[in-house]
Amino acid sequence: MDLNLKIYNTLTKQTDLFKPLHEGHVGMYVCGPTVYSNAHLGNARTFVSFDIMFRYFLHLGLKVRYVRNITDAGHLESDADEGEDKIAKKAKLEQIEPMEIVQRYTVDFHTIMQQFNTLPPSIEPTATGHIIEQIEMTKQILENGYAYESNGTIYFDVEKFTKEYNYTELSNRNLEELLNNTRDLDGQNDKRGRLDFALWIKAKPEHLMKWPSPWGDGFPGWHIECSAMSSKYLGEQFDIHGGGMDLIPTHHTNEIAQNLACHHKSPARYWIHTNMLTVNGQKMSKSLGNSFLPDELFSGNHKLLDKGYSPMTVRFFMLQAHYRSTLDFSNEALQAAEKGFQRLMNAIKLIPNLKTSEKSSIQLADVTKSIYDALNDDFNTPIALAQLFEMVRNINLINDGKESISVDDKLALEKLAKEIVFDVLGLKDEKNADDNKIDGLMQLILQQRSDAKVRKDYAASDAIRDHLKSIGIEVKDGKDGATYSVNSW
Ligand SMILES: [Zn+2]
Repeated sequence: MDLNLKIYNTLTKQTDLFKPLHEGHVGMYVCGPTVYSNAHLGNARTFVSFDIMFRYFLHLGLKVRYVRNITDAGHLESDADEGEDKIAKKAKLEQIEPMEIVQRYTVDFHTIMQQFNTLPPSIEPTATGHIIEQIEMTKQILENGYAYESNGTIYFDVEKFTKEYNYTELSNRNLEELLNNTRDLDGQNDKRGRLDFALWIKAKPEHLMKWPSPWGDGFPGWHIECSAMSSKYLGEQFDIHGGGMDLIPTHHTNEIAQNLACHHKSPARYWIHTNMLTVNGQKMSKSLGNSFLPDELFSGNHKLLDKGYSPMTVRFFMLQAHYRSTLDFSNEALQAAEKGFQRLMNAIKLIPNLKTSEKSSIQLADVTKSIYDALNDDFNTPIALAQLFEMVRNINLINDGKESISVDDKLALEKLAKEIVFDVLGLKDEKNADDNKIDGLMQLILQQRSDAKVRKDYAASDAIRDHLKSIGIEVKDGKDGATYSVNSW
């Protein structure tokens, strides 16, 4: 297979030609959510970005195994093994089982992902479902000499690791500085070096989520979860590992260290990271009060939002920025995206009814090539969208009789719109879906009215007609039954 896809690789700090480890196959691991609160918009953007990559690989005919985990234990409040387990803390606060928290927010996450029309991953493993694998990996790292036990907790020995491997290869941070800044331990910790991190954490008696291990009851560290699950489902080495860029300095750096210490192999050949969200140019964060949840964005129920925006408008809006750039939310930008998305959908709807001519006056092949060039250039969706609007312009001109299209080009145009807009970019016409539902409901109501007439219950049939009229739906009785029209006020 001739792939011409280039991907920016955080590991090599350059854009590399993508060569899968096994021809025709792609193994991709993306760090999933920690399910202790509602899915936030930053997460949604990350997973929409990887959804585009997943979809594009599928479109190119590759066989993809896309693994995205659910972190349902072991993620402490601070990435540096400090604070409480996020899920256990929330469970205590709400006085329910940790697994009730996990269930509630896993369902919420899946709902949001569906609203954004992301495809489910091939495998969605949970951390608690892979405790045995995490214990085994910890054992192996201990056996290989890169970890030590301290009062029932197993720590990864970063200083020992740095003697053989480059610990900061991914983050590009200065190791000397890191070591110097963190050398003085306060004595309250069982770690030998401040950069050391826990593979397995001894559980206090009151800790809710714990499992037996060779080192006593405990729970896994967040980083070992991903190393164990990615190795299990994708092998010791695989193609792509991804996540938000905030994961680079600690979580992903430690994942690489664990894999090297266990298997003597760096796990992924391409590391892909998505950028953050901003609101009116400021970093989106809970503490600044400028963050909103996907649901708030859909409903418009937030002090910073003028109105609500549909999930596809937001998806379209996300695609207008490259995944490695920040994405800035503002009312103006969202309103522009809403118009742009509608314009794209309206143009696609015109295609089947375009009149064909003997020859095309448009250069469809050029537009098609530009779209693929953009997607092949590190999944550059903003450029691909700009090219799609070139297509929109042409469709409108053909529809107005100012340009012409041949039968073959019309078929190619239909295929292009379907494959790029719907299959790869994962957009869908929301209006259509809603219209279909309204139509289904109306058929049901008209049938009830017709049944009432057969029963000679004219009071009921008139009441249905009058009520529909009061909400702007006009019913007309004809020879072949009743029809309806929706007033557009
Ligand atoms: Zn992870």
